[in-house]
Formats: sequence, C-alpha cells, structure tokens
Amino acid sequence: MKFVYSFGGGKAEGSSVMRNLLGGKGCELAEMTNLGIPVPPGFTITTQAWAHYNRGGRRFPEGLWDQALEALGRLEKAAGLAFGDPQRPLLVSVRSGARVSMPGMMETVLNLGLNDRTVEALAARTKNERFAWDCYRRFITMFSSVVLGIRRDAFEEHLTALKTRLGVATDPEVPGEELRKLTEVYKDVVAARTGSPFPQEPQEQLERAVRAVFDSWYANKATEYRRIHDIPADWGTAVTIMAMVYGNLGETSGTGVGFTRDPRTGEAQFYAEFLANAQGEDVVAGIRTPEHIDDLKRRMPAIYEELLTIADRLERHYKDMQDIEFTVQAGTLYLLQTRSGKRSARAAVRVAVDLVHEAVIDQHTALLRVPPRELGKLFLPVLDPADKEIAVAAGRILGRGLPAAPGGAVGHVVFDADHAVELARSGQKVILVRPETSPEDVAGMYASEGIVTSRGGRTSHAAVVAVGMGKSCIVGANDVVVDEERRVFMAGGRTVREGDLISIDGDTGEVLVDEVRLIPPMLTDEIRVFLSWADNYRSLGVRANADTPEDARKAREFGAEGIGLVRTEHMFFAPDRIAIVREMIMASDTAARHVAVKKLLPFQREDFVGIFRAMDGLPVTIRLLDPPLHEFLPKYTDLLEEYTRLDAQHMERERLEALMAKVRSLQEANPMLGHRGCRLGITFPEIYGMQVRAIMEAACSVASEGVQVEPEIMIPLTGTVGEMRITYEQTKKVADGVLAESGVTVPYLIGTMIEVPRAALIADAIARDAEFFSFGTNDLTQLTFGYSRDDVAKFLPDYLQKGILQHDPFSVLDQEGVGELVRIGIERGRRTRPDLKVGICGEHGGDPASVDFCHRVGMTYVSCSPFMIPIARLSAAQARIRARNMGEGAAGA
Ligand code: ADP
Ligand code: MG
Ligand code: MG
Repeated sequence: MKFVYSFGGGKAEGSSVMRNLLGGKGCELAEMTNLGIPVPPGFTITTQAWAHYNRGGRRFPEGLWDQALEALGRLEKAAGLAFGDPQRPLLVSVRSGARVSMPGMMETVLNLGLNDRTVEALAARTKNERFAWDCYRRFITMFSSVVLGIRRDAFEEHLTALKTRLGVATDPEVPGEELRKLTEVYKDVVAARTGSPFPQEPQEQLERAVRAVFDSWYANKATEYRRIHDIPADWGTAVTIMAMVYGNLGETSGTGVGFTRDPRTGEAQFYAEFLANAQGEDVVAGIRTPEHIDDLKRRMPAIYEELLTIADRLERHYKDMQDIEFTVQAGTLYLLQTRSGKRSARAAVRVAVDLVHEAVIDQHTALLRVPPRELGKLFLPVLDPADKEIAVAAGRILGRGLPAAPGGAVGHVVFDADHAVELARSGQKVILVRPETSPEDVAGMYASEGIVTSRGGRTSHAAVVAVGMGKSCIVGANDVVVDEERRVFMAGGRTVREGDLISIDGDTGEVLVDEVRLIPPMLTDEIRVFLSWADNYRSLGVRANADTPEDARKAREFGAEGIGLVRTEHMFFAPDRIAIVREMIMASDTAARHVAVKKLLPFQREDFVGIFRAMDGLPVTIRLLDPPLHEFLPKYTDLLEEYTRLDAQHMERERLEALMAKVRSLQEANPMLGHRGCRLGITFPEIYGMQVRAIMEAACSVASEGVQVEPEIMIPLTGTVGEMRITYEQTKKVADGVLAESGVTVPYLIGTMIEVPRAALIADAIARDAEFFSFGTNDLTQLTFGYSRDDVAKFLPDYLQKGILQHDPFSVLDQEGVGELVRIGIERGRRTRPDLKVGICGEHGGDPASVDFCHRVGMTYVSCSPFMIPIARLSAAQARIRARNMGEGAAGA
C-alpha cells in the first residue's frame, strides 16, 4: 500500500482532491507545488497510515518506514543536502494535518535533524553562528514538548532569565554565543527530566516525531476541539515532512501569515503580519507582537509584490479567501501553507457577495458558502456608541489592543479557562483575560462573552479561534498587564480584580472598566443583497413566531413573510390583564365567566390590531388559548404562605380560600397531557369565542382603514375529528357573525396545529375541516418520544454522550421518527386538500437541518423567532439548491 506522497521541484504526487488522504496541509502543499508556487520539497504520510498505526497497536504498518526513507532520499537529492550529514545537514519540519484545519491542535516540530554535530555544520555553512544555535534551541524546545512531554516553560524560563540578564527585550537581540550556552542548559533540562540525553540520531528523532504527531490526535485538547466542532474521531491525521526554510537567517529573512482578504470585515484587502528574523511559530504563538505587513513592503518591496501576486493567484485558483503562511529566507519567498481562511460571519457574507461581483463564483455557490448559523452572529451585540462615549469621557478606557474579532461584550473578568467555564455554568457573564491563549483555553473561550489577550497578533490563536466562535476579541493589548498569581490586571493606572466588570469593543480594540450598554447591530447592505439572493432561490416561505406588534415589526424587518404563530396566552400575563384572566378562571358559572371574558375582549382586540397593522398584506396565524389554566393562577405554596400570614382580616381570608380551592381543583398530575389546548375551547367555548371575536373585530376594523389582513385562526392540540369539527364550527359561527355585524369582508382561514401524533395519522380526516396545518414540533417531539420537555435535561446529556441520540430532538428535528409523522401528516392532509397550506412553528423552524427537511417534505413555510429569520431564509435557499444539485428538483414545492 502506498503510504507516502512526495512533492517538490514543481511536481507532486498528490493534489487538492486528496484531502482525506493527505490532510489539508499535505494536499494543498502538493497542489501549490503543481501550480508552480515556491514550496520547499517534502512528502506526506497518509491518514491511512495513521489508521493502520492506530488499529495495529501503535505500530507503523508494513512498508511505511521504507517508503518514508525512500522519500527522504529523494528530498535529500532535491535539496542537495543529507539528513544528519556532518557537512551539509538537511533539516526538516514534521507537521500534522487533519482533513479539516484544527488550528494549533496538533503539534509541529521545526529544525529536526539538528544535533551537536549538525549544528556546527549549519553555523559553518551559513557563516551565522547565532542562527544555528537559535535553530537548535528552538528544536530542543519543540521536540521536548511534543515528543518528550516536557512543558515549554521549562525551557522558556531560562530564555526569559537570559534576556533579563542581558537587558534585552526580544529574542533576536540575544547573541549566538549566549544561545549556544542556553542550548547546553536545555540539554541538561532534558537529561534531568527524562533520565537520558537529548536524542542525537536524526532518524530516531524523525521516527519519534512522526509517532508523536500520530499520537497527538488523541491529545485532550484535540479531542476537545473535535467535540466542539463535531469532527469524527476516526479521521486521523496525516504527517508532512518537508525541508526547512529559515526565516531566522537575519534581517533579509522573516516569517508571516496572511489572509487574502480581511477576515473580520471581508474587505478585499491583503491582511497580514510579518516578523523579521523569526521562525513561523513566533507569529502563531504570539511570542512577539508582529509588525504590520507594511513592514515587509518597506524592507523587501519585491518580495511583497511577489507575495501579493501569489495570494491573488491562490484566491482565484481556490475561488475563496485564503489563509497563507510564508517564510522569506535570505530574500527568497516560500509558501508553507494555504487553506480557506476562517472568517467572521460579516466577512463570510461580504466575501461571498464580492466574489460573485468579481465573477469568481456564481450566486448559488455564494449561498452555499455561508453556514446559515453564522448569520445568527451578525446580530451580535455591539457597545452602544452613546454610552461608550460617556464612558470614554469619564476616563474609563483601561487600554487598547488589536481588534481581532468584532462585536461588543460585557462581563466579569476571569483569568483562566476553567474558572470561566465554571462561572459561565452558574450563569455569570465572563470575559477571559490572558497573556495569550493556547488550545487548552478553547473551552473557556467558548464559555466567555469575549476574550482579551495582552500579547499576540491578529492571527494569533486567540484571534483565529474567537473569530470562528463569533466572540468579541482583543489581542496584543500591551497596556493590559496580567498578574495571574495575584489574579489582577493593571491597565490605565488601575488595578482590575478578578470578578470586576469590564466591557470590550472588538471593533476598535478598546477595553473599558465597568459596564457599557450593549445594543443589537443593524443589517448591512451586503447582508441585504445576500439574503435577497437567498429569497430568489428558495421556494419555502419564512414566517416568524411573534406575540406583540413590536416583535411583528422586527420580524418583518428581518424578512418574515407573515406570522406563523401568535401565542395569545402571552397577552394574558400583562399586569393589567392577569386580574381579569383570574376572574374568568374563578367564575363559578357560565354567566359569571361571560362577564369576565367580555372585559378581556378589548385588550385582545387591541393587541391584534397592532399586529395586523404591522403585518399589512401578510398572513397572521393566531393560536387560540393553549396552556392549562393553572398557569395563570398563583402557585399554591405562595398562597398558603400568604394565608398563614393573614389571620385577622376575614374578607381576605375568604378570597384566598376560594383561590386556593380553585388552584387545588386545577391541579393536574400531568398538566402537559391535561386540560389544555382545544380541550379548553370545548369545555369553555366562551373563552375561544371571545378570542375569535377579538381577532375578527380587529381584522374588520383595520381592514376598514385599508390595511390588508389575512387572519388564520389556529386550534391547538387537536387529536380527533370531533375536536376539529366542534371547534371549527364554533369558530366559524363567531367569525361569520362578526363579519355580518361589521359589513366588511375579510378573508380568513380556520386551521389546526398538528402536534398530537394521532392528528398526523388521521390528517386526511382532520383536513376535512382544517383549512391549514401547522406542525407544532415541540409538542409533537414530546409526545412522539414520550420525553417531557421540562424534564429531558435530566437524562439528555447522558443520551448524547452515549450516542443514543445524536442531537437534542427539541432543537434539531428528529427526521426518522417525528419527521415520519410530519411526512405522513402532510401526505394524508393533502389527500383531502391538495392545496393545503402547511407550516411548522416549533423551535425547529430556525434550525438549518430541520429547515432542509421541511423543504424536502414540501412544507409551505417555516416559522421561527424573528432573530432566526435570516438563518431560515438562507437555510431554505440552501435546501433548494442542494435538492436541485442532487437532481431531484424541489420536492413537492
Ligand atoms: P500549525 O498547524 O500549528 O499552523 P504548522 O505545521 O503550520 O502548524 O507549522 C507551524 C509554523 O511553522 C508555521 O508558521 C509554519 O509556517 C512553520 N513551518 C512549518 N514547516 C516549515 C518549514 N519547513 N520551514 C519553515 N517554517 C515552517
Ligand atoms: Mg499552520
Ligand atoms: Mg403545542
């Protein structure tokens, strides 16, 4: 079996399409080689080799090492050097590379092949003593941390002490002679910690490094990253071994990383950082804060131009924004990596739109480029400019750093990731403040509102990870001096303690003390254009769940084409109404109930008037009262408490006793399966009657003002033909009565929610009366699984962990079971009414995979919270494009 693929000298055995086999890094190095872009030669050991190694008890599979040595031989020839050679030593890097990029997860070893002899050869050949020992001390540090498991700190503390002793601030200022001595110290550290000397034999170094890369797939931080990002554990990693090029060879050398466009905004502008006289890890790890790319432009204008040309070429080749790594060795440029660049949600949309305008990709490719959930991040809050101005004027700015990821955040300061996770779990909003971050901090970053680091550049670990997570982030805030020991940071002449409130502005890089108000952001032009393309491609309608005129306006602004669910009971809780609602519930007979219900009528009418006006020209689905009545009464225990306090006043006692008796009588063993939904409408027809009257009176009154109304009255929780028939007839009678009284014609529909499995099964019979369906997938999921929505948290985490469930079925529609009922319901309903309007109004309406399902089963629309509307619009467009790409056409739509 072929386990090794070489690249170099303008030719490669691999290419982009071999991503699964060669990993992202390996396949793109091969692709760039084939494109004629300058890449140092090397070879890649496949993920298949990893799989064999992993299955075979961590032994290299037969033939792997021979193939690797053969490839190494070719590499030696290509480079004109030899591995371990005492005159012309070849040094290599050993790099991990999974199928998808896992930044900083798997470790890389640079300068491998150095030992006490080859370091002298390197110094002699380059006539640069300092350089050679700089490489060796780096190699010992990296090899020891990746392969021998000795923490980097064990070495770096000696380097830091050395710099202090020499009175210099940066690594390049440390002279070669000192680095030579430092290397001796490093070797002593290794000997002391491992009991054996630092391995001198290059082939042994190589073999151990390859094993370590293989093994690092199962390192805790890698496992954690895979868990968060849903990456299968069996993909494994490839290993790429390539000739070193040296960015630390002096002032005409250096290393950098860059994005072909600005990953924060998507602006079509090269966005890069460069460090002269350094090796790659320095930029990525944020060891030194790098200079702006203009520094390279100044120092080496020709190299800068060449870099821009290559960046442009790569972008056009891959038809997407690229994230590149490069090194300049004594005035020669080399590319070391390219991949599709991680970007903020805002940039994702901007880049997709721009690439269409630049005729690089077409609209449907652009639509497929943006993960729908990313759009949710565009509604990231930002610091309120007015409130911030006040804060700035009051001298509340603590410091500034580089704005690395947009959005604003407010939270309590924490200094370590574990603590961040802990506090976030207890419901606190936190901001993680660190000197820099590393993969160990990922869970803590996830738990935080925002991240501040005092070191590092805009392409440092913290920046890249935060952009991907949609978290506000500031890096390289040199003014923020973190004292982890004392758990404080000093900035702007103040000491900020752990737990203190700060605000950060990820758009400007400012850190402020105390809270600055957050406001939701506005949609930009690119987002509007992008979403208008989505609208052109989708056939599925998108509506909103909205209970107030305010929500309805917001929904419309986000692009809702109607309201799929107005929950009337939400109106019952307003302080001026709850007393009347209670009076209605307490009524001892129908006459008394009528009196109370009448008092509620004007309130309900007023709410509907507002919603109808906001949704002029669009349909509005209103659900009649659904929850059990006890939800509107005070808790029994609270009443009891009050009762025991009140012994004097006779009147009060009597009132309370009656209330307590009522609460007791309404108590149910299982309220979710109790007296609720249409069951209420059947036993208390006057309640539904009042609601229908309020809806229709509101409709008539706004219609007479010229507003176009389309009320859709929805009966909840129907499960039998009888329930549907009776509630339909009651509703129809009241509605037609109002129309006759007012003399206005308003088209209206009466339909039902399908949320009891039985309703789905007899949908053909239900559709004889119901004029539309809306799948209430929250209740339908609850009743199909038999999981109480309120109690599922007790066992769900275990179920997810054991793989019994792949997702929480209350947020991602269970297509296999619940989805089957939906399919059956639609199919049977349309047997009776071929043009039956069908929607969904559960939480699933804003989940991309669920929206895709809704498209495939031929729903008319999905309905979700106003905030999720853009996600649903894009998901619906992607669903149609995918269905078309699979050659099926849009099912049923
Ligand atoms: P990561 O996945 O953490 O970015 P990489 O394998 O890309 O790790 O390597 C870390 C750093 O070392 C990068 O800056 C990379 O450009 C640099 N690097 C890797 N291989 C070489 C090489 N052969 N010569 C010079 N620099 C290298
Ligand atoms: Mg890299
Ligand atoms: Mg329901």
